[in-house]
Amino acid sequence: KDIKTLTTDEAKKEILGLQDELTDYGIAYYEKDAPLVEDHVYDAKYARLVALEAAFPQFVTQDSPTQNVGGAQTKSGLPKVQHPVPMLSLGDVFSLDELQEWEDRTKKALGFQPKYNLELKIDGLAINLKYEQGKLVQASTRGNGLIGEDVTANVFTINDVPKQLKEAVTFEARGEIYMPKASFAKLNEEREADGQEPFANPRNAAAGSLRQLDANETKKRNLSAFMYYTAEPDQIGVTTQSGLLERFRELGLPTNPDNRVFDKMAEVGPYLEEFTASRDELPYGIDGVVVKVNNFDDQVDLGNTVKVPRWAIAYKFPPEEEETVVRDIEWTV
Ligand code: NAD
Repeated sequence: KDIKTLTTDEAKKEILGLQDELTDYGIAYYEKDAPLVEDHVYDAKYARLVALEAAFPQFVTQDSPTQNVGGAQTKSGLPKVQHPVPMLSLGDVFSLDELQEWEDRTKKALGFQPKYNLELKIDGLAINLKYEQGKLVQASTRGNGLIGEDVTANVFTINDVPKQLKEAVTFEARGEIYMPKASFAKLNEEREADGQEPFANPRNAAAGSLRQLDANETKKRNLSAFMYYTAEPDQIGVTTQSGLLERFRELGLPTNPDNRVFDKMAEVGPYLEEFTASRDELPYGIDGVVVKVNNFDDQVDLGNTVKVPRWAIAYKFPPEEEETVVRDIEWTV
């Protein structure tokens, strides 16, 4: 129903219903690694809740899924880790028109045209790696953004994650732990042969595999990593997102090779099309492209909400069966 025609009572009922429903889906997804609905179903309900809450802000509660970074940190029995700088989620858009609206807001807030760094959105789970003098000393999950789980022993079993960097730097690197498609297929085959429920997707499989109490179990799952963020760029002497990725490579951290810098949003169409079309050929899952304002000073000026940075946005791919529809849309700026 059109939001403009809702009475306050109708809106309240729908908002509270969606908040409860999405909270239940979040528990199944983040804590049990076993989603109850497909992501695009969740995303559509989430977008409706965002729109309803914007029209009726009096019903936005602190525990609404729109105000919290979703993630498990209570159930698995792993020790807890506090994140001094919160680990945030990302806002998302589902069309080029919505991406253009985001860019209009961004340019207006900054007062000029920023450069953008585009990266693939890796379908895994966020990880924080703490390095002291170049040595890996702790690994933790995002959890609810403020408190995550200590998965150090498990991350030590992942070959791609360096235990020792090439320089004695002290800082926290953030990125994504993912399960390559081939490992995912093999794991699900084994689970089915054992009479266990298969994982719904590589992201849930990666999360379930990383959040094991027994690190030997994680080791068998062939997880991998791509790193893409630090809250402490000064510690490694970088001032832009593209520079950070190069510096990570120098330090020996695994990074995705497909990032690209654009002078303006009007030029990003072919990149989005290229990866929408080639996502199936990649050996790991991606569920979109992340557009980031490249300069860190501009990122600081734009800031964050309680849940997402304002300087980045995820352009989400359509569910596989609708893909061709979006590929045909032309960039019109
Ligand atoms: P998200 O996964 O959409 O986006 C944020 C995350 O993207 C970051 O935390 C980071 O881990 C990751 N990421 C990957 N590549 C990145 C890159 N290059 N740069 C920066 N970040 C990158 O957000 P979320 O809040 O973690 O989860 C929401 C998503 O989970 C939605 O897609 C939703 O469909 C799904 N979900 C599904 C259900 C369900 O029941 N099916 C329930 C809850 C959430």
